[in-house]
Amino acid sequence: MTELKEYVTDVVICGGGPGGVSCAFTLGKKGIPVILVDKKKKEKIGDKVCGDALNPILSDRFHSLIGLPKPDPEKKELMEFADVIELRGQHPKAVIKLGDGSATVDRLRYGQHLLNAAEEFDSVKIIPEARVQKVIVNDGFVQGVECLTPEGTIRITAKITVDATGSSGIVRRRLPKEMCQKFPQTIPREQMLVAYREIIRTKTPHQFQRGLYLTYEPELEEVMPGYYWFFSRGENELNIGLGYLMEERNRGKNIREINESVRKRYFPDAEILASQGDQIPARLPLPSLVHNGFVAVGDAGALANPLNGEGHGPALNSGIHAGLFIADALSKGDWSEKSLWKYSKWAWNHYGVEFAMGIALIKFMEKYGYQNFEWLVIQDIIKEDDILLQLRDPEAKHKGLLKRAFKLMKRPKLLFGVRKMLNHADEIKKHAKAYPDNPDDFGQWYEKLKKIEQKKF
Ligand SMILES: Cc1cc2nc3c(=O)[nH]c(=O)nc-3n(C[C@H](O)[C@H](O)[C@H](O)COP(=O)(O)OP(=O)(O)OC[C@H]3O[C@@H](n4cnc5c(N)ncnc54)[C@H](O)[C@@H]3O)c2cc1C
Repeated sequence: MTELKEYVTDVVICGGGPGGVSCAFTLGKKGIPVILVDKKKKEKIGDKVCGDALNPILSDRFHSLIGLPKPDPEKKELMEFADVIELRGQHPKAVIKLGDGSATVDRLRYGQHLLNAAEEFDSVKIIPEARVQKVIVNDGFVQGVECLTPEGTIRITAKITVDATGSSGIVRRRLPKEMCQKFPQTIPREQMLVAYREIIRTKTPHQFQRGLYLTYEPELEEVMPGYYWFFSRGENELNIGLGYLMEERNRGKNIREINESVRKRYFPDAEILASQGDQIPARLPLPSLVHNGFVAVGDAGALANPLNGEGHGPALNSGIHAGLFIADALSKGDWSEKSLWKYSKWAWNHYGVEFAMGIALIKFMEKYGYQNFEWLVIQDIIKEDDILLQLRDPEAKHKGLLKRAFKLMKRPKLLFGVRKMLNHADEIKKHAKAYPDNPDDFGQWYEKLKKIEQKKF
């Protein structure tokens, strides 16, 4: 029988996606002992089914915050800058600009760059092919994990355990039930998006050059709210795919077939270079992202934008911030829930506010249907500024939209719906900003959150 190999460290990070590596990089920079484990082979860490969009503004921000390397165009980590980002409905007039610029990145190349940058710090150790199986809990504190490796089981004892395992949230799911009072142990199906993507090569230059397009294709009508994307990765290469909520009514729908039907319509001769599906959380952040000796980052903390499924930027950002708050807690010799709470507050003040409009829009579409949304866009009642403003500055007021909504006097039900959507977004934002300073004050805040979340249109 193989012996149990034991390691002792300050922080064990489970998962080497953007959330995990940015956290390891931040802690490594501060000289804090870290072990990062990932179930994948080392050369595959960073590879991820993704639409590949990452806004260079975010990469610049993370670089200035902590020196996190940016995706390098020379090394083909940054594949293409996008000048156009648009949401397109089925009617030619239903077009909304979603941003001023973005880019597509090669997830594997950039992920490997970040992994290598983290490993350069003497205090950071990477253990690939280590699958987290068990969480060690003593006296109400998470104290590390046990992982299965090709050589046998390893046991890593740590002061703090970071769940960066993506949408599977495996560390959280393996916690004892009694520790999951302030966050759900498993995220309900209907709060997850199922997403499927293909990388394709076209014979001639495609029609989506230097662009990121989110579209509402007729094939998606039955699974709405959802979206299709065409993201350019170069003159003859595209990342295409779709995502929709895993609601009960969508059970049994075949995402591959829906995708194939759209692809064959647009690119009948395309060569398929890669294809795979995965899930993305589409909800507000976990109500609390910490416990004694425990922190959740990225998708494991439900930190992906429900409006468009973008989670790469939030994973990098939350990994960095978790690293900063963890370093602070360790310096004080206190890694209890109370000491780590500031991270949860940061996440809610930031992403609770940013995701509010996405949640409100999903509820609006569920009640009033996509056709009504498209009609509002065609009539210029919902304009690009409304959505752009929300993405750039989620705290901005939607006064313009409210004024324009009065054009709907003859459609009072729809007017009521638009007002309800805006009020709902505002209510979530207000509540996110009022996140308690202390876990002792969480109960009342959580009760109110549940009521807000249950609101139907
Ligand atoms: C089809 C699709 C398209 C998307 N498009 C975009 C997009 O265009 N732009 C964007 O910003 N976001 C997009 N996203 C979302 C984005 O990919 C994620 O939000 C982001 O990767 C989250 O990063 P993460 O570090 O939290 O998790 P992940 O990137 O999922 O990394 C988790 C890591 O944990 C490891 N792991 C899992 N379980 C275990 C275990 N038991 N033991 C050890 N290791 C484990 C995995 O191997 C992996 O390396 C898309 C997602 C999907 C599915």
